[in-house]
Amino acid sequence: MAAIEMSHIVKRYGDGFPAVNDVSLDIADGEFMILVGPSGCGKSTLLRMIVGLEDITSGDMVIGGKRVNDKAPRDRNLSMVFQNYALYPHLSVYENIAFPLRLAKVPDDEVRRKVEESASVLELHEHLQRKPANLSGGQRQRVAMGRAIVREADAFLFDEPLSNLDAKLRGQMRAEIARLQRRLGITTVYVTHDQTEAMTLGDRVCVLKKGVIQQVAAPRELYEQP
Ligand code: ADP
Ligand code: ADP
Repeated sequence: MAAIEMSHIVKRYGDGFPAVNDVSLDIADGEFMILVGPSGCGKSTLLRMIVGLEDITSGDMVIGGKRVNDKAPRDRNLSMVFQNYALYPHLSVYENIAFPLRLAKVPDDEVRRKVEESASVLELHEHLQRKPANLSGGQRQRVAMGRAIVREADAFLFDEPLSNLDAKLRGQMRAEIARLQRRLGITTVYVTHDQTEAMTLGDRVCVLKKGVIQQVAAPRELYEQP
């Protein structure tokens, strides 16, 4: 059974041309799927429909065998990392990472154990009491990832998570995301327009154009043309 099954997904904003137009795509358990394509092709819209931040006009979204079209984001058990990190400025790194556990009313001692575990995987343990404003871009990105991995989500969703970083840091974080994903073996959907990310991170790459799937293939089939 696929972890995420999309069939004939359509999204219309207002009465314009559909932003996502009859997309059917199965993402396997543990798979790293990349969504690529030019700006405006519908990548973010598709990701936002998976996570539940955008209503689906028609079609079926099935996650873990359950139809989730009408489920709120908090009932989908997915973790999303945004381009701008979406950290809470008034909260410490510790409380930012702990946030999904606080929402789920996890007991304090378990929160501490899980936050420390995530922080250690991401090398953030020395920064737990700092505020996001006092962190570098790469550290903020790690906090956002810490918040994503702190609970046992069914999938990670990334919306261009590295595009605000400089080239060197982007390379480091790319390696880190690859390592984390393999270590956790968690189903991942990752939006990018960066070909290097698509090539090095994905098990498969789904190419979108004007809301329609052009191709779904392993990176080497897409990028190593004769
Ligand atoms: P991408 O992430 O590939 O850049 P988007 O999913 O953001 O593409 O956008 C796909 C299309 O839908 C674009 O034409 C965009 O202008 C339109 N769109 C996205 N969000 C909205 C919205 N909230 N209201 C109206 N149109 C939108
Ligand atoms: P990106 O493609 O990098 O995700 P966009 O500039 O397309 O960024 O979109 C930024 C935000 O504006 C998103 O929340 C998107 O939903 C919204 N948006 C995009 N296009 C439109 C539009 N035509 N009308 C209203 N909101 C839009």
